[in-house]
Amino acid sequence: MVKKIMDYYNKFRGMDLLKEMLNQIRNFDKEVKIMEVCGTHTRAIFAGGIPKLLSDHITLISGPGCPICVTTQIYIDKAIELAKKSNVIITSFADFIKVPGNNSSLQQIKALGGDVRVVHSPISALKIAQKNYDKEVIFLAIGFETTAPIIALSLKEADRLKLDNYSILLSLKTMPAIIEKLILDLESEIDGFICPGHVSTIIGSQAFNFIADNYNLAAVIAGFERGDIIMALARILKMVKEGITTVDNLYSRVVKAKGNLKAIAIMNDFFEVKDSTWRGLGLVRNSGLGLKEKYQNFNAENKFKFKEVPQEKKFFCSCGDVLTGKKRPPDCQLFAKDCTPLNPQGPCMVSEEGSCNIYYEYRR
Ligand code: SF4
Repeated sequence: MVKKIMDYYNKFRGMDLLKEMLNQIRNFDKEVKIMEVCGTHTRAIFAGGIPKLLSDHITLISGPGCPICVTTQIYIDKAIELAKKSNVIITSFADFIKVPGNNSSLQQIKALGGDVRVVHSPISALKIAQKNYDKEVIFLAIGFETTAPIIALSLKEADRLKLDNYSILLSLKTMPAIIEKLILDLESEIDGFICPGHVSTIIGSQAFNFIADNYNLAAVIAGFERGDIIMALARILKMVKEGITTVDNLYSRVVKAKGNLKAIAIMNDFFEVKDSTWRGLGLVRNSGLGLKEKYQNFNAENKFKFKEVPQEKKFFCSCGDVLTGKKRPPDCQLFAKDCTPLNPQGPCMVSEEGSCNIYYEYRR
């Protein structure tokens, strides 16, 4: 059985099945711009050598689907302020602690003695809270619909255990609203979208139907294998050529039309849609998740008083433009000079899903 599955995947990863589609993407003769929204797709595209396979008429644009990259500097500064408190343990996904805030990063605060711990899941943060009743344990709840259900699950468990020393600093964002904002902002510049595969597993392919129904643009839900991406590009080009616009789910081995109903249910129990501020895009209506009134006791912003919210400092970092597809990483004057993965000046160079980090690795 395992051998059969591996044979199938090896065949799928090989080029034999894809020759016809490769011809389509090599020989396409009309100018077309396609955005891959998700950072994992950007990495898969570069790791798979896809740019070298494309006709010169095809432009791929990386979108705002890297959770670390879109989180604002103000949020990072709030996390840093909390990490300086002696009664607080900050828990966070790994890369995020390296992102610079106004004056330092969580990693620097940790080096100076702050209790900042890297966790793989908010459930681990919850366990830390159970073992440290004398401390306030705060999980930095960033990400999209992919991380929201497990964060909600941690809150459900904290509620069940009546754990009052666990809370979250919340900056969860939602994908459909930001894609719609990009379509409106960039007007008709984008011809098609490779929609985020992981987010689609949670909210379903139908959450992206508006791209075709309301804006007459092509869209494909795709997986992350090289074959998935070539197939997605060929499908979008076919739609553009024939003037047909639909949202095609080419990742049906994982993504269902209505998504993961259990994950959606637990998200809806704890969170409600609200406006959210994105790095580079500002405040976007209905593009984030806030805690429902009933669970405000888990909101770190209610437990702690913050200093007056600082204004975003003007850096030379162009992450905002990179995230919205207005600039490519090498267009930033700091790229690969003052800004490298070892000395990142912005989140797009920190995260493995950030365009600058990916360009640095594959396109320097
Ligand atoms: Fe920001 Fe560095 Fe990317 Fe420039 S290269 S946009 S400074 S992360």
